[in-house]
Amino acid sequence: PNMVQESHVLRCFSRQAFQVQQVKKSMKWTCKVCGEKQSLMQEFGRGTAANCRRHVQKLNTLRGRMLEMNSCCHSGEQTFRTNSHYIPESTRTSARCLLKIASSGKHLL
Ligand SMILES: [Zn+2]
Repeated sequence: PNMVQESHVLRCFSRQAFQVQQVKKSMKWTCKVCGEKQSLMQEFGRGTAANCRRHVQKLNTLRGRMLEMNSCCHSGEQTFRTNSHYIPESTRTSARCLLKIASSGKHLL
């Protein structure tokens, strides 16, 4: 019997683009976009492949918006309300800027 394959959301250091990768034991992964091999530094979410793909879309959308706004990390804490099981605790802090924009936008997350 196969174990359920878990996926997670990673970000390429070179293009800063988010993408879905299958969870492996290795701490190395290869970017699907530019082919760069890199270390697994940070995980932005974890779950089924479908969930991860949806999350990646949101993150990349937010990333584009963040570049437009060119401003993040103001004061205050943004509570991560939705999908709290899906996003590991450890990634919440790093995702805060994105989430802040998400909440100021709409219900993207
Ligand atoms: Zn890349």
